[in-house]
Amino acid sequence: MVKKPLDILEILEKSNCRECGEATCLAFASAVFRGQRKLQECPRLDKAAIESFSKNAGKRSGVKVPGEAYLNRLKGEVKIIDLITAAQRTGGRMIGDRLVIKVLGKDFGVDTEGNLYTDIHINPYVAIPFLNYILYGQGVDPSGNWISYRELKEGWESYAIFQKRCERMIKRLADEHRDLIDDIVRVFNGQEVEKQFKADISVVLHPLPKVPLMICYWKPGDGLDSNINVFFDKSANHNLDTDSLFTLSVGIAQMLEKIVTTHGFTDKI
Ligand code: SF4
Repeated sequence: MVKKPLDILEILEKSNCRECGEATCLAFASAVFRGQRKLQECPRLDKAAIESFSKNAGKRSGVKVPGEAYLNRLKGEVKIIDLITAAQRTGGRMIGDRLVIKVLGKDFGVDTEGNLYTDIHINPYVAIPFLNYILYGQGVDPSGNWISYRELKEGWESYAIFQKRCERMIKRLADEHRDLIDDIVRVFNGQEVEKQFKADISVVLHPLPKVPLMICYWKPGDGLDSNINVFFDKSANHNLDTDSLFTLSVGIAQMLEKIVTTHGFTDKI
């Protein structure tokens, strides 16, 4: 299953020969991912490789578990992009040779060599979406319209596991810790907004500048259990692939669990 330009880049020669008219193989892979170019337009790819790729492109490999090797591959990709352009596109800023963006209200940066810098612990659940965002995000501004995880690109395929590892986990924490929502607002620089979808509380976070996420909490009552739903902006997949949105959301749920078990926020979440 092709879920990000990196999946397409894998089969390219990576010689950056420019015969396709793009400056780099990564730029070509991104254009194919967005549907603006066809794989066949790379003259260096043979027919057999294209056919084999097309055949396997529809097979779902499951939600990726973030790993060090994958993280290192993304860091390597950073070396071949222009960070100044990426900063303009993603809502970041340049500080020296580093692109710095706000991740959940905290500075998170990367330099031209792919080294990461942040005041908080470098957690792969945050670092991988951060890198995918600056590498492949299109910089589309949020629309203000909210959709559920299952409405994301192929989100329905991993919705059950998303519910288990993110929504139900946050619900359990909110049920057990009445001040959890306040913690979310305080620790993650969240913002309580007008109640959406008839929820009792709606809070918007910005895990990445152009990727807002809304947590809605329905308190228990009238014989009904409480509920938590996480929503994404309709533009989310223009800026981040579904696997990265999954990773980021699960990471937030894990950070919240850590906050409540350590009875408060520390810089080393
Ligand atoms: S023609 Fe193929 S190998 Fe050459 S830059 Fe384009 S995508 Fe890369």
